[in-house]
Amino acid sequence: ATAREALARLVRDVPDFPEPGVLFKDITPLLADHAGLRAVVDGLAAAGRDAEGRPVVDAVVGLEARGFVLAAPVALALGVGFVPVRKAGKLPGETHEVAYALEYGEAVLQVHRDAVAPGARVLVVDDVLATGGTLAAARALVEACGAHVHAASLLMEISALPGRAALGDLPLHVLTTV
Ligand code: 5GP
Repeated sequence: ATAREALARLVRDVPDFPEPGVLFKDITPLLADHAGLRAVVDGLAAAGRDAEGRPVVDAVVGLEARGFVLAAPVALALGVGFVPVRKAGKLPGETHEVAYALEYGEAVLQVHRDAVAPGARVLVVDDVLATGGTLAAARALVEACGAHVHAASLLMEISALPGRAALGDLPLHVLTTV
């Protein structure tokens, strides 16, 4: 199965979740399907390879929480380690943090200061690109470590939202647009 076919078949639309008016893309049926999971992990990892298929990143950063599930096998596929970006208060060590706007209020993301080496090339992995706020914050955290985001790799881009525009020149690799 191609990644795009797997996404079309195995991502479930849930109306009014987590609040009225939101159409939530539920990826749990995709994660539960071995062939589907393999197809999307391979597709996500492609953003961390050159034209000959050689890995070109030094680390894979995953965004809490669904991004963790995808980023760890992508890191293994590329032969590098996994680094979590977490919501405020979850990481025990010294952190960099970035606050970003949500529809109502704001959220804070953190990364361990010593998790990404200065000069490292990083692949950022998450499930869905909506407004782009989460990914922009993750990029700021990687850059606060003195590292560079090689690309961001996502399962789905929601084309009705301005996520891509919020990310400037960040190279985006999306497996499907909905
Ligand atoms: P953004 O910051 O781009 O507005 O939102 C993206 C973040 O919210 C991602 O970390 C993603 O996991 C989550 N998210 C937003 N909408 C959805 C959705 O419909 N389905 C899933 N699975 N995650 C979503």
